[in-house]
Amino acid sequence: MASERQIDVGGVLIGGGAPVAVQTMTKTETANLDATMEQIRRVAEAGADIVRCAVPREQDVEALKVIVQQSPIPVIADIHFNHTLALKSLEAGAHCVRLNPGNIGGPEKVAEVIAKAKQLGTPIRVGVNSGSLPRHLRELEFTDPVEALVTAAVETVELMEGLDFDNFKVSMKSTSVPNTIAANRLLAQRIPYPLHLGVTEAGTKWSGSLKSAVGLGTLLADGVGDTIRISLSTFHAEEEVKVAWEILKALKLRERGPVLIACPTCGRLQFDMDSVVAEVERRLEAYEDPIEVSILGCAVNGIGEARHADFGITGAKDMGMIYSRGEPLKKVRTEDLVDELFAEIDRWYAAGKEVVVDPKAAAEAAEWLAENEDETAMTPERLAALEAEKAREEAEFAEASPVTGRRFQRA
Ligand code: SF4
Repeated sequence: MASERQIDVGGVLIGGGAPVAVQTMTKTETANLDATMEQIRRVAEAGADIVRCAVPREQDVEALKVIVQQSPIPVIADIHFNHTLALKSLEAGAHCVRLNPGNIGGPEKVAEVIAKAKQLGTPIRVGVNSGSLPRHLRELEFTDPVEALVTAAVETVELMEGLDFDNFKVSMKSTSVPNTIAANRLLAQRIPYPLHLGVTEAGTKWSGSLKSAVGLGTLLADGVGDTIRISLSTFHAEEEVKVAWEILKALKLRERGPVLIACPTCGRLQFDMDSVVAEVERRLEAYEDPIEVSILGCAVNGIGEARHADFGITGAKDMGMIYSRGEPLKKVRTEDLVDELFAEIDRWYAAGKEVVVDPKAAAEAAEWLAENEDETAMTPERLAALEAEKAREEAEFAEASPVTGRRFQRA
């Protein structure tokens, strides 16, 4: 359920079924041109489709004029409280301006900004924040914060429509994940315009990423949301971009770069898998294709659920194995696993993305796997498979016999 309407932010389409756009915000003082451009280049390299810069002062508008010319990705000017800066940012060539109509100084000033945006054909992001709802919604906010947020957003949309303006997207920001989810679900049913999703002040890289993944991931899985920004308390804006991409990749909404999967490890692990995973993750950053690489902590489980991975390694105490799409490729010493994995990936590229198999090495690896596999071991993977099978049987039983099935489910 993507939004019906679509807008164009400097060539990046938002809404109307376009891929969910990743955006972030620079953390530098915008007027510090060198530092801001350096950060913009870094976030663009990390995969940001759009970048937003705060414009709280005149000198930031001056810098903005250069930034919009030099930036490799479209730039949104972030304005609060000062409609003159919004007008100047539009004139400076910003590809979009973000403003919250509630804090810009009254309806006349909003109308002035919208008139300029219309004249220039520039889209606007309008939004409401849970922390600054209009006075007449304060009581509702106390009894029903979600409805208060949605009502404020709908009123903002009506304000735009009253100005005969439809070139906008909408955001509703809340620090509460459940409220973010509930409010955006409701708003998506009530308005046809693209939605910008974010959990405001989400937190540190660790907790903020999780909150964002839960909040935004839930909405995106439902098809709600057209562009996302992950807010993390870090100066490194590219970290926000990486998290956004992991969410989109996990939901298979977009592809970018390799996908790394790794077993959770258990008592069967006999090598330093943490270091291997970190090193593989670091070295995969140099690759652009969505190759899937799997790391298994032991061979007890065979290749198991990593059968579909383009490449993988199975470690053990002294020796390990490289495999591709479920087939053993070679046996290698544990300390050489990472180097050999990347040698195989590079060989695959050199052969035009064909797996190169050395039959002798593959046979040795298959033999090693057969020696180390233990079909009787109750591994986490096999337990998960058994649980999935049990759940499937229960579902089938409930479907085949609704009355007994219901009783069975309660038992
Ligand atoms: S049994 Fe599974 S979880 Fe445990 S180390 Fe082996 S592959 Fe990893």
